[in-house]
Amino acid sequence: MNVSTLARQLKVTVNELLERLPGLGFDIGARALKVDDKLAPKIMAAWKKATKKEVFQKELSKIEERGKEPQGAKNLPVSKELSIAETIVVKDLAEKMKLPVAKLMAELMKNGIMVSLNERIDFDTATIIAEDLGFKVTRSNEEILEEQSKREKLKILLTNRPEHQQEIKAPVVVVMGHVDHGKTKLLDAIRETNIVDQEAGGITQHIGAYQVRKKDRLITFLDTPGHEAFKAMRSRGGQIADIAVLVVAADDGLQPQTLESISVIQKEKLPYIVAINKIDKEGADVDRVKQGLSEINMIPEDWGGKTICQPISAKFKKNISELLDTIILVADMEELKADPSGDAVGTIIESHVDKSAGPVATVLVQAGILKIGDMFLVGSVPGKIKIMQDWKGQAMPTAGPATPVKILGLKQLPSIGEILEVITDKKQYKVRLKEMSSQSKAMRNSSSINKNSDKENNENAVNLNLIIKSDVLGSAEAIEESLSKINVPNTNIQILKKGLGQITEDDVLNAAATNALIIGFHIKENKNLKSLADEKHVTILHFDIIYKLLEEVEKILKSIKGKKTIHKFLGKMQVLAIFKSTKNSMIVGGKITAGKITKKSKIKVLKNGQVEALGELLSLQSAKEAVSEVVEGNEAGLEYKGEPIIAIGDTLEFFEEIYE
Ligand code: GDP
Repeated sequence: MNVSTLARQLKVTVNELLERLPGLGFDIGARALKVDDKLAPKIMAAWKKATKKEVFQKELSKIEERGKEPQGAKNLPVSKELSIAETIVVKDLAEKMKLPVAKLMAELMKNGIMVSLNERIDFDTATIIAEDLGFKVTRSNEEILEEQSKREKLKILLTNRPEHQQEIKAPVVVVMGHVDHGKTKLLDAIRETNIVDQEAGGITQHIGAYQVRKKDRLITFLDTPGHEAFKAMRSRGGQIADIAVLVVAADDGLQPQTLESISVIQKEKLPYIVAINKIDKEGADVDRVKQGLSEINMIPEDWGGKTICQPISAKFKKNISELLDTIILVADMEELKADPSGDAVGTIIESHVDKSAGPVATVLVQAGILKIGDMFLVGSVPGKIKIMQDWKGQAMPTAGPATPVKILGLKQLPSIGEILEVITDKKQYKVRLKEMSSQSKAMRNSSSINKNSDKENNENAVNLNLIIKSDVLGSAEAIEESLSKINVPNTNIQILKKGLGQITEDDVLNAAATNALIIGFHIKENKNLKSLADEKHVTILHFDIIYKLLEEVEKILKSIKGKKTIHKFLGKMQVLAIFKSTKNSMIVGGKITAGKITKKSKIKVLKNGQVEALGELLSLQSAKEAVSEVVEGNEAGLEYKGEPIIAIGDTLEFFEEIYE
């Protein structure tokens, strides 16, 4: 081959090529005109490898440079913007931030979050990390609009009531703050110290909220553990909560999630109390927390400002009573009122499918009186209240404003954050039900059209493939049933496989070939599979509670909706030999004529330029050895899964399916 041809292929000048070759271990002479045909591919490979290394090193030094930036760098003016949905896969976030995944994972680790590159992190976590790296983060528009429309609907339902009378109601309180600052402990302490009649309930149920009595006044606490409370707050707490308790650990001060909580509280214009927790601990410094608050213009009352601070110890149940008094004081100042008459309106704060009882939900009543026998609609889900219980499992015949109740009698599982409306007028109920069911039918129709159409031509729908493994078949069926109720427009769920027991290697390989998500329900995590799953870019999620599973799947659907499934071209192979053919697989050989084949490719079978079938790549060989990649110019043997129609002379096109 001419040296000039080789230089052209490598996109450099002849001189550059000749100068660099000795450094790569090829000494063909400084004035050579020709290069041996056998040597040329080797030079090309070495050249590409070296270039890759250079790029990598440049990238690395950029990161190091960034690492050297002073601590205050995160306070520099933000120049980059990011729009993130409710959840995002780590590697996608890295891509959005144009950062190497390893760097992002290291940042997450620094914040105590251990995730693999394929795992999803929620909006809040992503925001904290991204803002630390100098990004300004916004929620993607669609979700904000959805939320706004729910809030508007609620506002209308709460104000346009026939006999709109207002009476003082119990305050609904949300507890927020940085992780580990003691939110859960505080909620437990309040519950334990203030259960009115211990003997009657004994065992309390976790229904997402509870009520305590203080000096004959009721206070409702939203009891969503840990960081969940924060997420719930962000997406719907604003339409539920009246007062926020911001927990700040006295030994740790204001932390990123404290600041995040403050920004949510301010955005929602919620009255708040700062509970300075862990005052029992060595190193606790209440004044330091107050100092921190003052620095962000939240000056404590005893320092001449307006921020109410209450030092507490959730662990030793110290000053809990004082905190409750303060909450009542704030509630009184706010004059929290609601209409306690007429048909009930409320918001769903928790829902799950109970194996024996069916769909169960907790509703926080916000106006009117909810009664046994009431006909209601939650979004498009109809129902009639059959059983109603409080958080101690006691039957409740009626429930008024600010009361959280567990209800049975839903026809399907409602989404959290949906609004429940009681409609006593039978005629009106029928009309509304008809409206709702035609709306959801339209949605179902569109999704079945999507199901049947060729993905490549479909601009709108995105498929989420699932492989579900569970402990007993009953739960797999309950999951399938509940999943079918999730309605995220323009998305489809396809359950490719349901099975019992542990997740296996086969499941991971299957998921890799079909771009599926693996869900384990009530089964132990198989740690040995982690590296295989990472290598194959397969996400495995484990759940023990159905509603958590549904919430997560719904979030994933929302995050992929509106994206298109794109076939990213990888390479082409000319088929030269057929070695084996079975009912749904073939082993064929050929030459790579363009690009490359990688192990996670999918395959289009082309005859005379026309796509005749779609298949999957099960294994790949080159020179009789299993390989993960074969590049242009080389021969490869492969196992294909799909309709066995490949013939000598056909072209196989390899592609990767990505969402964009
Ligand atoms: P959350 O992440 O905000 O819900 O925090 P947790 O309630 O789980 O508390 C985190 C840790 O701090 C746990 O180990 C608690 O036992 C501990 N903790 C919470 N409150 C106190 C407190 O008042 N004093 C002490 N010493 N430890 C506490």
